[in-house]
Amino acid sequence: MAGESQADCLFCKIVAGEVPATVIRDSETMTAFRDINPQAPTHVLVIPKAHYPDAATLAAAEPQLAAEMLREAGEVAEQEGIVASETGPGTGYRVVFNTGHGAGQTVFHAHAHVLGGRGFNWPPG
Ligand code: 5GP
Ligand code: ZN
Repeated sequence: MAGESQADCLFCKIVAGEVPATVIRDSETMTAFRDINPQAPTHVLVIPKAHYPDAATLAAAEPQLAAEMLREAGEVAEQEGIVASETGPGTGYRVVFNTGHGAGQTVFHAHAHVLGGRGFNWPPG
């Protein structure tokens, strides 16, 4: 059923503590941990603890949780010091939702990538 932990899901296993991860933020509904294969100096994944296959499915079923995921992404950026600012050290950051195989999604448990600490090109690759 939507939202229930899936036995074969890597990120459900991270939520359950069955697979180790470097968790940097944890709340009742969300977990944020460092990506195992970072693509930038800061590369954090923000996931809902409940299982939904992608961000759009999450937003359709539980809009409040989708909003929390976005808010958590912003909190991660603040915590990591990557928010663009005239006075702070950050350069800005990117939040990415790969959705579907062709767009690069490999783990089918909703997650936001928070990337920062370097410049980014547009359009993305
Ligand atoms: P996707 O490709 O689905 O958008 O993102 C999945 C992300 O999960 C990838 O960036 C990948 O490096 C990361 N990842 C895959 N396996 C693990 C793991 O066991 N631990 C952590 N921390 N990240 C993982
Ligand atoms: Zn899952």
